[in-house]
Amino acid sequence: MRIVIRNGLSWLDADKKAPTYLNIEGDLIREQTDRLPEGDVVLDAGDGYVIPGFIDIHLHGGGGHDFMEATPEAFRSATEHHLLHGTTALCPTSVSATVESLRAFLNAHRRAMADPDLRVRLLGAHLEGPLLSERRRGAHDLSVVKSAELTAFETVLQEFPLIRRVTAAPEWPGICALASRHVPEGVQFSMGHSEARGEEIDRAVTAGFTSVTHLFNAMSSYGDHLGIKAPGLAEKALMDDRVYVELIGDLVHVPADMFLWAYRNKTAEKMMLVTDALSAAGAPAGTAAIGAGSERMELEIREAAYLKGTETLAGSVVSADQLVRNAVKIGIPFRDAVKMLTETPAKLLGVDRFLGRLDPGMGADIVILDRELQVRHVICRGNLIR
Ligand SMILES: [Zn+2]
Repeated sequence: MRIVIRNGLSWLDADKKAPTYLNIEGDLIREQTDRLPEGDVVLDAGDGYVIPGFIDIHLHGGGGHDFMEATPEAFRSATEHHLLHGTTALCPTSVSATVESLRAFLNAHRRAMADPDLRVRLLGAHLEGPLLSERRRGAHDLSVVKSAELTAFETVLQEFPLIRRVTAAPEWPGICALASRHVPEGVQFSMGHSEARGEEIDRAVTAGFTSVTHLFNAMSSYGDHLGIKAPGLAEKALMDDRVYVELIGDLVHVPADMFLWAYRNKTAEKMMLVTDALSAAGAPAGTAAIGAGSERMELEIREAAYLKGTETLAGSVVSADQLVRNAVKIGIPFRDAVKMLTETPAKLLGVDRFLGRLDPGMGADIVILDRELQVRHVICRGNLIR
């Protein structure tokens, strides 16, 4: 199918109506042009913003389903919910789980990649845990974190080349050597759920860790360490220019002033917005959970998801378009808000030659937002979704 988009505003320069026409052929952006090309569908952007599709590298589910359910239905429902809100590419994310549960999740991911009914672009799995700090585990199951083993985890890494990201605590014994073995294979390592300080973090960056998972949440901060004052992971993430950070932009996990502080410090070049969304995102109100089977934890949904009966935050209930509106609301320029959900995560994962911008030859993943930044149209892999 050939789609032509007209009357769109460029996300890079809101006052300039450029490109006048965006010509999509098959699953690629073919050209930006001044004259109306031929197309099967002409989509009127109605003076809305034409932007690249959102890339969410950290989310557990949506539409009432968690990826850990490991069924085709869970993958379809969760991805469809986020796709309708403009997320055209994503990394299904696990919670800390036994090796058997991780295998079930990864096998389901593998099947989903061949599922003709799945309309989103899967970028590979993100394993969040189980190699995490017990103290900073957040909503992750303590017994699973306690019994996790590095060698068993590496077996899973070797078995499933579709694993794209790993969140681990850099202080876990042996994790730096493990990272340096698997970074060359294209696995991206992220520091998170961690008590690490000072030099432990430097060692992890040298070993190949390139990002920090949900900055400010579930991590160490400045204090005493081995008898001396040392920065924690939160401060190291802000100080080290090599390190990318993800931030949960629901304005619950991180208050607005700290969100802005992180943005000013890291800039949109090194900061990414993630939803860390749970099954409850877009699901009818009622009982909610994170994970599945024996790792399932009951949640309470308020303005975000909390572990039942506690004040422990477990994840968000937002979608990516809300993150853009939140960022703009607190004063971040629109183009940077978009960049933190498109070009920057594409760079982190090494897919920026194909995704995250609207240049000719790139994948046809496009979102059209109206002037209130609500999603009007979504195109994914050249297909008009809405
Ligand atoms: Zn998460």
